[in-house]
Amino acid sequence: MPKDNPRHPDFPIPGGPERRAKSWRAEGLLRLMENVLAVGEAPEKLIVYAALGRAARNWPAHDAIVRTLCEMEEDQTLVIQSGKPVGLLRTHKGAPMVVMANCNIVGQWAKPDVFYEFERKGLICWGGLTAGAWQYIGSQGVIQGTYEIFMRIAERRFNGSLAGRFILTAGLGGMGGAQPLAGRMAGAAILCLDVDAERAKKRQEIGYLDEIAPDLDTALAMIKAATDEGRAVSVALVANAAEVYPEILARGIVPDIVSDQTSAHDLVYGYVPEGYDLARVQRLRDQNPEELIEAGRDSIAHQVTAMLGFQKAGAEVFDNGNLIRTQAKAAGIEDAFDIPIFTEAYLRPLFARAIGPFRWMALSGEESDIAKIDDVLLEMFPDNKIVTNWIKLARAHVPFEGLPARIAWLGHGERTALARRVNDMVAAGELAGPVAFSRDHLDAGGMAHPNIMTEGMRDGSDAIADWPLLDAMTLCSSGADLVAIHSGGGGYSGFMTSAGVTVVADGTKEADTRIDLSLTNDTALGVIRYADAGYPDALDEARVGKVGHIAL
Ligand code: NAD
Repeated sequence: MPKDNPRHPDFPIPGGPERRAKSWRAEGLLRLMENVLAVGEAPEKLIVYAALGRAARNWPAHDAIVRTLCEMEEDQTLVIQSGKPVGLLRTHKGAPMVVMANCNIVGQWAKPDVFYEFERKGLICWGGLTAGAWQYIGSQGVIQGTYEIFMRIAERRFNGSLAGRFILTAGLGGMGGAQPLAGRMAGAAILCLDVDAERAKKRQEIGYLDEIAPDLDTALAMIKAATDEGRAVSVALVANAAEVYPEILARGIVPDIVSDQTSAHDLVYGYVPEGYDLARVQRLRDQNPEELIEAGRDSIAHQVTAMLGFQKAGAEVFDNGNLIRTQAKAAGIEDAFDIPIFTEAYLRPLFARAIGPFRWMALSGEESDIAKIDDVLLEMFPDNKIVTNWIKLARAHVPFEGLPARIAWLGHGERTALARRVNDMVAAGELAGPVAFSRDHLDAGGMAHPNIMTEGMRDGSDAIADWPLLDAMTLCSSGADLVAIHSGGGGYSGFMTSAGVTVVADGTKEADTRIDLSLTNDTALGVIRYADAGYPDALDEARVGKVGHIAL
């Protein structure tokens, strides 16, 4: 039975043993689409996160996807173009159930104004990364990534601990909302700004945020008290980051870590310029988007100037993947790229081994299924500190949103081994239902994004999109249940190309094969991508892990 969803009563959380589709592969994908809406930001508009990231093009397209998933056979493939189902083709049982391409625009047309025009004409929609490919699991999907970043900084700069440290950041939306919880889990005192009081309230309601301060003085006093006592706390302040960052700097207060996860990538539907309230922004979106773009760039210039000031004063400052440096540079802040991107600064050694944000969702809707898989994971990887530490923390601190799900940074071979084991558990009736496996698009083989994932690659291959395209083709030939190719990621159809994958462990022998081939080949290609770029960790992994790398 679907469960009530207090946040969005019209979008119940799927679950239960009854399926509507003819196979668990199709039912699983249907539940995942329902789930991204259930945990999304504005499901009534089909928006999942990041201002415009949609689960389907429009409601007729959504309804047709639901209908087709329910009716299709396992030897058919549903073809989706930017959130609109366009074909149901005869393929074979080893082929994907769904293939989709979201927001891919040719070369020099791949710019925001062209995207907005196509969007207005109803020809395209932006699928974000995990939104359009139905893989979003709520803010928890990025918690571990954010937590790992904080811990890498702790190791490098603060003797392994963030107790008594102050993190300043902004953005409490679909992704940014993970920051307060990740900061608290890392032991820090974290202050998160957002212009929208509703966003802050939402994060507090779901247990991701401790306190909402009434004003800046109180917020800073709360942070000071916590850092003095070495106590972890997360505090929100409803305010504009472009106003408050410079104010904190002017007061001579230097946080230990500074970042930002406002929707700076989108100056029309996302970032709110200083001095503008939400109602005015809403009006201008239709009436005068050019004004918003100009005012947004000016504000970002102020905010990034303050971030550079914090950096000069000794803070660890990083870009958390929202293109704020790119916008600042366009606004004339020449040294904006002195701020490093998190991937290059902290996570690349993990990606070089194809260790990245792997995730699984209990299609039964039962939390006990995730608890059982947690136990199995701890038993299978007792020496993997990243995983064991994370699972213990996640169990204690991460509330479930929507379909019970877990994320863990697993690498080549590990993902396949876990998914195979879970498929056996489904077959043996040890779980209440099948389990879907997926990953973020921000993964070793999955993404080319020269301002986020692949910035500063060793061999200069930052902007080469062959890799995610090869990944998607490899995943199709490996029989994954859903394969997606996305572009956009902020510069709306410019800036990045990515590939997404989902496999449903329904307990069958065929699922064993699909898991084996697709999850193994996905991470193999990730290792090969980094080995090809000359990363020693990847070359090691290629030797040890037999990924099939052809070295010239
Ligand atoms: P969102 O649209 O759901 O939320 C953005 C939030 O920023 C909103 O709550 C909004 O009120 C707030 N905001 C806008 N302008 C502000 C300002 N000037 N001051 C304070 N608050 C302001 O977006 P999201 O899904 O949370 O994503 C945020 C950004 O992170 C996006 O740019 C997205 O592309 C990026 N992102 C990065 C990663 C990563 O891996 N690091 C992953 C996903 C998304």
